[in-house]
Amino acid sequence: MARPSAPVPIPAALQDRLRTQLGTEAEALLAALDMPTPVSIRLNPAKPVDLGGTAIPWCATGRYLAERPVFTLDPLLHAGCYYVQEAASMLLEQAFAASGLAGQDIAALDLCAAPGGKSTHLAALLTPGSLLVSNEVERKRQPALLENVWKWGRMGHVVTGDTPERFAALGPFFDLIVVDAPCSGEGMMRKDPFAREQWSPKLVARCAATQHAILDQAWCALAPGGTLIYSTCTWSSEEDDGALEHLYTLGALPVALPDLSAFGVVRKTHGAVAYPHRLKGEGFFIGLVRKPGERRPREPRANVPDRLAHQGIVHRVQPAWAQQVAQFCATVRTLAAGTPWSAVGPDGGEVPQPAAAYTGTTLEHAADLPVDRAQALTFLRGEALRLGDAPAGSWRRITYAGHGLGFVRGAGNRWNNQLPAAWRIRMR
Ligand code: SAM
Repeated sequence: MARPSAPVPIPAALQDRLRTQLGTEAEALLAALDMPTPVSIRLNPAKPVDLGGTAIPWCATGRYLAERPVFTLDPLLHAGCYYVQEAASMLLEQAFAASGLAGQDIAALDLCAAPGGKSTHLAALLTPGSLLVSNEVERKRQPALLENVWKWGRMGHVVTGDTPERFAALGPFFDLIVVDAPCSGEGMMRKDPFAREQWSPKLVARCAATQHAILDQAWCALAPGGTLIYSTCTWSSEEDDGALEHLYTLGALPVALPDLSAFGVVRKTHGAVAYPHRLKGEGFFIGLVRKPGERRPREPRANVPDRLAHQGIVHRVQPAWAQQVAQFCATVRTLAAGTPWSAVGPDGGEVPQPAAAYTGTTLEHAADLPVDRAQALTFLRGEALRLGDAPAGSWRRITYAGHGLGFVRGAGNRWNNQLPAAWRIRMR
C-alpha cells in the first residue's frame, strides 16, 4: 500500500522572512499552515437552499461546514446554489461595501477571474442592473470560469478572454475593477502543496512585476471616480502594500476598509490581511483605491433589445448595456456576450444553450422536468433518463429541488442527455 508522502516543508527563506515580518507570532502562523483546512461555501442568494453550517462574519452568504461533504455528488452544487470557496477571500464583500458602490447600477470588471470565486461573489453583490464582465487571459482556465459563471446564473454576465492591455485600449469605462492578482501563493500553502514547491524569492519578485503591469493597464480602464479593489493570497509586502503603493504613484487615492479586527483581520499600511492562525480561513490580502474625478451617472437607455447575436448564438444581455457590450465585443476577445441562450439547429429548430438552464427564468424553449436526487445524479453522469413519454425532438430542463441542472431532448422512450461532456461527473 502506498504510504502518504511527507508534507513539503515551508521553504526556509520564507520561514525566515515571516519571522522578520511577524516576530514571535510567526510560529503560530507556521503551525497553522500544518493544520487541516476549514471547509466553507458561499450561498447563491438567487437560489435559496438550506445547507446548515455556521455564519462567516464578514460575508452574509458565507458558511463554514462542520465537515467536507462529497461536493461532486451534490446536485445543488451543480445547479449553482453555492460555490465552494475558502473563507478569507470572501473579504471581497467588505471591500465592495467600502467602495460605496453598493446599490448603484455600475459597470464592473473582474480582470483576473478564473475559476470564478470573486466573479460569482460580485454577481451576488451587484444590482441586477449592473454590468459584470469577467475576464481570464489563460485559455486553459477559461472553461472553468465559463462553467462557474453560467451555473451561478446571473443573466447577462459577460465573459472575456483577453489581456489587460486590450481592456486599457477600451479607455476609462469601468466604475469598479477587481484585480485578484496572480501571486506567489504563500497564503495557499496549507491547502496546496504546490504553493510550497513553487515558492522562491524570485517568484515573489516576478509576481510583483506582473502585478504592477496588470495594475497599469487596469488603471487605464477605470473610469474617473471609479474604485479598484486589489487582492492576493500572499503575505509578501512587495505584492501587497507594494502594489497599492504602485497605484498611488499612478495618482490613486486611498480608500479605508472598515476595522475588521474583531474578526481577526489585521490592518496593514494600505489594506487588510488574513492569517490562518488568527481566523478560520487561508491567507489573503485586500485593499482598495479610488481614481480621482467625478463618477458620471450612467444614462438609462430605452428601447434597446435584450438579445444580441454573437458567433451564431443568441445571448441574453442587459438592455441598458447592450450597446456598450456590442462595442467592446469588437475590441476584446469575447467568450460570452451575455448569457448564451439559444441557437438555430440543423433542422431549423431552436437549440437551448447550456447556460440557459441555470438562470431561474421560465424558458420559452424547454418546460421543466423535476427529478429526485438519484435521477439528478444519473443525469449529471451524462446518462439518458427514462421518465415516461419523451416526445421526439422536444426539449426539457431538468430541475432538482426547483433549480435547473441542464437539458434533455426527447427520443420517444427516453430523454437524451444534453449536459456538456466536460461538466459530467465521473464519480460513482
Ligand atoms: N479571481 C479568481 C477567483 O477568485 O476564483 C482567482 C484568480 S487567480 C488568483 C489569478 C488569475 O490571474 C489566474 O486565473 C491567472 O490565469 C490570471 N493571470 C495570470 N497572469 C495574468 C496576467 N498577466 N494578466 C491578467 N491575468 C493573469
